[in-house]
Amino acid sequence: MNCPICIVAPLSLGSLESSLSSQNCARCGGNWIPGAQYWKWLENQGENLPEVDAQTSDLPISEPTAHLDCPECKWRMVKYMVGRGTGFSLDHCHSCKGIWLDKNEWEVLRKRNLHDDLNSMLTEFWQSEALKEERRKRFERINQTKFGAEDYAEIKRIRDWLEGHDKKHELLAYLTDDDPLNV
Ligand SMILES: [Zn+2]
Ligand SMILES: [Zn+2]
Repeated sequence: MNCPICIVAPLSLGSLESSLSSQNCARCGGNWIPGAQYWKWLENQGENLPEVDAQTSDLPISEPTAHLDCPECKWRMVKYMVGRGTGFSLDHCHSCKGIWLDKNEWEVLRKRNLHDDLNSMLTEFWQSEALKEERRKRFERINQTKFGAEDYAEIKRIRDWLEGHDKKHELLAYLTDDDPLNV
């Protein structure tokens, strides 16, 4: 079995956890987890671990944008967003149910306790949440460019303050009135 990224490099047996083996690429550091193995490991894991909030990670992630072919059955794999601020996707083969993770992705997932959620990531619900998160981030970037980071932070602060204010509408009317004192 060869690496779906490096193509010519063979995968060799490695381990992600004491009871979860993977097929590892020595060249790019990616890992192939056969579906049945992950499911079995997950069953023995017991209770789902509570998610840990996003933290800055210094582990470099290289996210290939090209579509990959399954190393086992050669099917074109489908990308699933991990979301939750991680910024990367995993590749999943619908035919053999295997999962491809790029270098360091398992480590990042484990730090966040998301490594026992790969099954949930493959659901429509998780993907629509991740898509919403992407859209929000894109919108934030657009606004930051439009207003500048400092002004954007300020207008957001004002917006949050207005949101919970019982005189929100009067305040807004005052704010948008060019001549509020009517002189
Ligand atoms: Zn590789
Ligand atoms: Zn496959």
